[in-house]
Amino acid sequence: MYGKLPSLIVPRVADSEVLLPPVAADDVLHNSSLIQQLTVAAKDAALLRGVLMRTKEDPSSTESTSYAPFSLFPSPVPKKLFAQAHEVQQDFNMLVDRISQDSKFLTKALASTIEVDEFTAGLFRIYKQVLEEGITQPINLGINRSDYMFDRGTDHSPSLKQIEINTIAASYAGLAERVPDVHRHVLNFWGKSDEAAKILSNNALKGIAEGIAKACQMYGSSEAVVLFLVEKVTRNIFDQRCLEMELWNKNIRVIRRQTLDIYERGALDDEKRLFVDGYEVAVVYFRTGYNPEDYHDEVCWDARLLIERSKAIKCPDIATQLVGTKKVQQEIARSGVVEKYFSECPKSAERIRATFVGLYSIDEGPEGDEIITKAIEDPEGFVLKPQREGGGNNIFGEELKQLLGNIKDGPKRSAYILMERIKPQTVKNYLLHPGSALKLSECVVELGVFGVYISKCRKMIMNESPGHLLRTKSREFADGGVSAGVAVLDTPYLT
Ligand code: ADP
Ligand code: MG
Repeated sequence: MYGKLPSLIVPRVADSEVLLPPVAADDVLHNSSLIQQLTVAAKDAALLRGVLMRTKEDPSSTESTSYAPFSLFPSPVPKKLFAQAHEVQQDFNMLVDRISQDSKFLTKALASTIEVDEFTAGLFRIYKQVLEEGITQPINLGINRSDYMFDRGTDHSPSLKQIEINTIAASYAGLAERVPDVHRHVLNFWGKSDEAAKILSNNALKGIAEGIAKACQMYGSSEAVVLFLVEKVTRNIFDQRCLEMELWNKNIRVIRRQTLDIYERGALDDEKRLFVDGYEVAVVYFRTGYNPEDYHDEVCWDARLLIERSKAIKCPDIATQLVGTKKVQQEIARSGVVEKYFSECPKSAERIRATFVGLYSIDEGPEGDEIITKAIEDPEGFVLKPQREGGGNNIFGEELKQLLGNIKDGPKRSAYILMERIKPQTVKNYLLHPGSALKLSECVVELGVFGVYISKCRKMIMNESPGHLLRTKSREFADGGVSAGVAVLDTPYLT
């Protein structure tokens, strides 16, 4: 198709330590005529396959849309680490579930944070209140995503290291399931059908839909609906629509409502069943509720409390959301904690711990003082994290040094934790963002693995790891996800 095809190379650590996408030699990446043609084909394939996002310019319009940002080539991912990430996911599901039911641990872990972080304190107040009133729904549905980078280590053998686990609104399963077809098409179009055939399918979305469907069934009322709690403006709506469609196809009715709608038109009956606009709600699936702005009006907190008090199955409940905070992540990493939750299965604890990097409390006291001093001396070696989700909140490098200097002598520092900085391998790729010029970038990839579980009275009824999400961003951005306009959707090409 393009005369002599460029030679096929196996991804390897190049002299510069930058990996190349599978099947693309360096000269191919600079062949602008070829790249142009592949890009046009790729963008149309993305539109055809439904890898979509509403536009920045007109995010609420149902008339205009574009492709969701994605990479031109799939990125190499070590097979061994991909398998490791899937293998440990069921352990993480269990860990999250167990900790969500350990009020003593959660209360102690968050004690210093809620003194200084008003948002976490707001969530915690609701948690305490529902705990005091008594649990109304013994069934938990968890849909999470554990995110990793491949730390390049000192000996060029990459290892799987966890960034965080998202226990609320873990997104992009819908679109991620559609990207493999786009990458297959790119490779086929280029004449690389053997490589195209090796691109993995991704069943994240189906697994998540099955989890919600099973929870509905366990709730036990055939008329009850699934409520998607959503933001007013959702550019990433198609990702949500994918899941809605899966549920509708299973004869499950989905309604979409905002938090204010719940305040205005939601109510509990005598049995604490949640009704919204006359619909009984079996499952509340949160795609909002993790940022201070999501509670812009005081009554949003009342709405959240109403949901938490109800008999509806919450995905997640407030306790599970708190398990996903950076502070709890850091407390979990303390020596002996994971091991305590897996006393019957030390192998699970080992698998989990193998993915941890250093996580440090910077609460006032000698332990915090010591690590703050270290981080100020070596700011590139750490990430400073507040209790926020959604990308763009972490502090790196010079800014980290300055901020730590400013907060180190007061209680405010308890709002943050320090994390060892992962140094990932980089890979070359073209990142396609609507409206942006085509540019070859040196990128880092982040692998997320979805977990879906249902527990009832502490017993696991379902525990799955149905699929994954690969996101890639240019290495010049230390932070920022797909929604923030920084990262793009990608597909792992196992090597
Ligand atoms: P958020 O809840 O905002 O998504 P994350 O903990 O996932 O917060 O961090 C956001 C981004 O910051 C990650 O996607 C990654 O790019 C970067 N990051 C976070 N922790 C580390 C780390 N320990 N080392 C290197 N980069 C990190
Ligand atoms: Mg993240």
